[in-house]
This record gives sequence, structure tokens and C-alpha cells, in this order.
Amino acid sequence: MHQLSHPKIQLGHWPTPLEPMLRINEMHKGPELWVKRDDCTGLAFGGNKTRKLEYLLADAQLRGATTLLTAGGVQSNHARQTAAAAARVGLGCELFLEQVEGISEADYSHSGNLLLDQLLGARLHRLPAGQDLDAAMALRAQTLSTSGQVPYVMPVGGSNAIGAMGYVDCGLELAQQLQQYQLSFDAIVLATGSAGTQAGLLAGLALAGIDIPVLGVTVSRSSDEQCQKVLALLHEVQGLLEQSELHEDHVICFDKYYGSAYGDPTPQMVEAVRLAASLEGLLLDPVYSGKAFAGLLDLVRHGYFDTSERVLFLHTGGAPGLFAYSECLSEP
Ligand SMILES: *Cc1c(COP(=O)(O)O)cnc(C)c1O
Repeated sequence: MHQLSHPKIQLGHWPTPLEPMLRINEMHKGPELWVKRDDCTGLAFGGNKTRKLEYLLADAQLRGATTLLTAGGVQSNHARQTAAAAARVGLGCELFLEQVEGISEADYSHSGNLLLDQLLGARLHRLPAGQDLDAAMALRAQTLSTSGQVPYVMPVGGSNAIGAMGYVDCGLELAQQLQQYQLSFDAIVLATGSAGTQAGLLAGLALAGIDIPVLGVTVSRSSDEQCQKVLALLHEVQGLLEQSELHEDHVICFDKYYGSAYGDPTPQMVEAVRLAASLEGLLLDPVYSGKAFAGLLDLVRHGYFDTSERVLFLHTGGAPGLFAYSECLSEP
């Protein structure tokens, strides 16, 4: 198996399980659906940011960082996992959290990830919607530097080339599981936002010599915009890996499933979250995995996959966000 030479620390429990969705498959009699449980990474309720943070924190430590800074929406899963990682290794953590429109203020602002951020000991900076989060972080980083600290600023979603290395790892891990279980997949479906997961996974699969299309379901952007974002990051990652570049047509995105905006609770998301929970005991989230799974179900129902195919859903985590959406998810 390939081992990446980039430095990382261990924060998660690996490998994450690979499981068939038996009851959903029985119901649909369509392509065989499986799930890779990256919601079970083991770090403070888990999720896809754990893999990225293993590389980002190693880099932060190499640079002598004393405080981590990162940004996201109020219910950011990345912010929560960053706070947990900082606690684990004894670094300070400051989170720049932007208000997201249209969600019940009471739940959204005190429950779910936001509550966990506080328990994990992060310092919170709450900003209104539409603020420049990068500028706010840069300003704060300057202040911290002046007072003798060493700030380490991570982008939204931890999605730079270093963070995306975590999903190169995931591609290699999956390749090993396929060999071990004598399994193959015809497609992988995941939620794509800041793009590190999709870009890293594509690079990792290519490194393992495995050609499986990775279909990204967007959570806030048109497929054109998202494909550009994934492709730009993929080129950077492949630069770091000194790997020959993939063709552009390997990057595929669907933009029909996020509703009107990031975090918009669509009826299809609610259906997908209820279905996965009630038939598989699987908790998806309202912003990412619930919408990606809604997209997968829609593609299945419209015959996008052949019934003889096998499709892998990458569960990227996010279930703490369910509590911030209790109003639209609970029974009337
Ligand atoms: C951040 C996140 C994603 C998207 O991953 P990106 O690397 O930002 O594209 C998907 N699912 C969940 C639960 C997330 O928190």
C-alpha cells in the first residue's frame, strides 16, 4: 500500500467501516448501495474534517503554532472538529462563525455544533452573514502575533492542498478495503463544499490506480463553479504528490439538490435523513450528507445507475447539525 510522506498526526480511528445498506437495497431493488463511515472517525462525533486535520495539525506543529484559527458557518462541522483537535494536542483555537440565514435562531445559535465548540474550549467570534471571514481571521492573527503567539490560519473546511491530503489517505484506505473484501464499486457519491474531500479522494484513487467516478453533490454552488473549485484544488494536490494530472472529465458535480442556498432545509433532504435513520439506523446531516443522499436516491430513482451496479456513499458526518434543525426534522 502507498504511504504518503507528508507529516501527519493521528486524530482518528482508521480504517472507517465499509457497510452495505441492506434494508434500503431491499426496498429499492436498484443498484447495490454501500456506505463508507467517515462519520465514525472518532474525533468529537467524527466527520470528514478529521482526516484533513491530521495533516493540518502536523503542519501547524512544525511551524510552532500556539493557536489555530479557522472559519465556517455557525453550525460548521469543520469548526467543531478543529476545536476538538486543538484540545487534543493542547493548542488554542479561535473560530470565526458566520450567521446562516433562514434557520430558527434559538436552536441554531445554542445547539448542535455551536454547543460542542464551547464545550471543546474554543473561543468564538460570531459574525453576521456576508462578512469577509478571511479578513477577520487575518486581522486577529496579526493581533495574536503582536502579543507573542504563533497563529495558524486554516481556510474554510480545511480545504487547501495540505488538508486535502487527508482524502488522498481515504482513497488509499478504500483501495485496501476493496482488495481485502474483494469488492468493486462503479461510482462514489459524496457531498462537496469546500472541495477538499472530492479533490483529495480523486487524487488518492488515482494514486492507487483505481478508476471509479466520484460524483459530488453540491451544497451551495452550481456544478460548473464547483467543478472548477475541485479541479483547481486537485491540480494543487497532484502537484504536491508529483502525480500526473487527471483529466477534467473525472470531476463530476450535481447541483440540483441543495435547494435555494447553503443550509436550506429541502423536503428531499428531510426525506433522505428520515429514510437513512429509519431503515439503516444511520444519522445523516441536514446541510451535507442529507442532501448528498437525497441526490443519490434521486439518481437511483431516475435510472442513472444500472441495477447491476454497486455504488458507494461516502458518509462525511455532520449529525450534530441535526439538533440545530429540529424544527424542520421533528414530527409535526
Ligand atoms: C465539510 C463537510 C462536507 C464537505 O466537504 P468538503 O471537503 O468541504 O467539500 C461534507 N459533509 C460534511 C458533514 C461536512 O462537514
